[in-house]
Amino acid sequence: NTFADIDLGEELNQNIRRCKYVKPTPVQRHAIPISIAGRDLMACAQTGSGKTAAFCFPIISGIMRGNHFAQRPPRMPRMAFPQALILSPTRELSCQIHDEAKKFAYQTGVRVVVAYGGAPINQQLRDLERGVDILVATPGRLVDLLERARVSLQMIRYLALDEADRMLDMGFEPQIRKIVQQMDMPPPGMRQTMLFSATFPKEIQRLAADFLSGYIFLAV
Ligand code: AMP
Repeated sequence: NTFADIDLGEELNQNIRRCKYVKPTPVQRHAIPISIAGRDLMACAQTGSGKTAAFCFPIISGIMRGNHFAQRPPRMPRMAFPQALILSPTRELSCQIHDEAKKFAYQTGVRVVVAYGGAPINQQLRDLERGVDILVATPGRLVDLLERARVSLQMIRYLALDEADRMLDMGFEPQIRKIVQQMDMPPPGMRQTMLFSATFPKEIQRLAADFLSGYIFLAV
């Protein structure tokens, strides 16, 4: 059971080899096939479990395979139309995910941009203007970008919530709900959602019930 056995697309498989990943971690071994099959997923995952690759690989692979049903984004030069959104609680975690995702997406043509709060927005706006397929963001900064009409979520096909329990602890639930409300990808049900959390209190279960459909719960 190695990554070579999972067909994620030639370029991505090559990048995985370049990162010296050989054997999937337990969360990867189970989460990746579920996501590739198109199912929503709620997964129990601690830091260090390899969860970043668990949600990045299916997203990058899916974007590389292309989407037959998607319309082209409207021509709005100052508005970014990512296909995937990865929400994470902090600047540090967002930057870490961005760094890893860029390695995985190397030479695939899949563009990754990060946007987080507590830093000037101008460079992030310039990055977004150059084009983005996967946006890694903290909830507060993303709401700011949505209010400035610099990001549209209408083309989102993949949503990953990382460390969802920590995002709720930090008070981001209103922002997260506002963000998810703006995703409306026709035909309905084509958005795939992955929720990762270390703990599963009532509030997380409620988020899962509201954002996921027919999901698989993975505890490894
Ligand atoms: P994460 O839990 O995603 O923060 O990953 C923890 C660390 O393990 C990171 O440094 C990853 O690069 C590394 N890692 C993740 N998956 C694998 C794997 N299958 N083989 C080797 N290293 C990995």
